[in-house]
Amino acid sequence: MSWGPSDCSDIRPGPAIQILSPSRFSSQGPNRGNGRWHLLDRTSTTYLGVTVGALLGGYYVTHLEKVPETGRRRFMAVSVEQEDYIHKLMVEETLQDFRGRLLPSNHPLSQQVRRITRRIITSSNLGHLQGELAPEPVEMMDPFPAAIPRPQTLHPDREWVVLVINDRSLVNAFAAPGLVCVSTGIMPVARNEEGLAAIIGHEIGHVVMRHTSEHLSQAKLFLPIIGLLVMLGLGPFVSALMMRYFYVLPHSRALETEADLMGIKLMARACYDPGAAPRRGRVFEAFKRLEAVNTFKFLDTHPPTEERIAHLKTLLPASFEIYNSNPECSQLDEMRRRGHLSRVRMNIDC
Ligand SMILES: [Zn+2]
Repeated sequence: MSWGPSDCSDIRPGPAIQILSPSRFSSQGPNRGNGRWHLLDRTSTTYLGVTVGALLGGYYVTHLEKVPETGRRRFMAVSVEQEDYIHKLMVEETLQDFRGRLLPSNHPLSQQVRRITRRIITSSNLGHLQGELAPEPVEMMDPFPAAIPRPQTLHPDREWVVLVINDRSLVNAFAAPGLVCVSTGIMPVARNEEGLAAIIGHEIGHVVMRHTSEHLSQAKLFLPIIGLLVMLGLGPFVSALMMRYFYVLPHSRALETEADLMGIKLMARACYDPGAAPRRGRVFEAFKRLEAVNTFKFLDTHPPTEERIAHLKTLLPASFEIYNSNPECSQLDEMRRRGHLSRVRMNIDC
């Protein structure tokens, strides 16, 4: 299919944009010549492009909202109800995909992952583990209510399923509202419970910030914008490439940075040492090696590792403020100092 200016003579003078090839249509229609179709001339195409652009712009502007936790403006065209439905499907699909490869819930590794998830979600009122009683809302004993806003995206009644995929060759972790899933392959990278808490905190951070819905919202705009760029004279390949490198990838990197920010806060609220988050830099490298991620920043879905570690370090003072303001964290620290509570290592040989 050619997308360049036409050389046909049966339409008005001036370069015309060929939009469709004849093989896709019948011979009916007003502008057919030399076996090619020309639906609109340049002027009409420009008018159509401007109209579509205005409609798209209006749709975009009316669906902008502010992220409560960071103040970032974002395009959101997926409702919380739609998000819930999509994530229920995700949980079912994950259970289906990894059937027969999941560790039982009473396995020591599953117990560790469940403990970490329990601490993270209950300390931020994000829900409770499936099969367990919902705890009292944290506000009842909240030591830091006003200065540090609590994530409101998830309800304390939400039930969470924790899955551990028994596959050492798979280095992966992901979360959705009501689901935390990690593979045993990530345990050697996490090394200890706090390392794994940093990973799970980051994944739950994506959930709290509704990043999956943001990706889906963005996907709704992708094809219409490419169509608009094509209408305005850019080739489809160039349009898709521009969208990817100037919109999709920078957006993806911004969401990763935001999940890092939320993840370290969630960790601190759950009394996990926030300092474990920048130390988790090895995880970023492991992901990069496995996914053969690009070395050029502008081609990457994630920010460069060094940049992420530096960003996490800048978040440490605020995170320790959260950690130190929670009397429960101080008690745990004191118990560790006295040797009553050793830092737990992941038992990766289980
Ligand atoms: Zn992420």
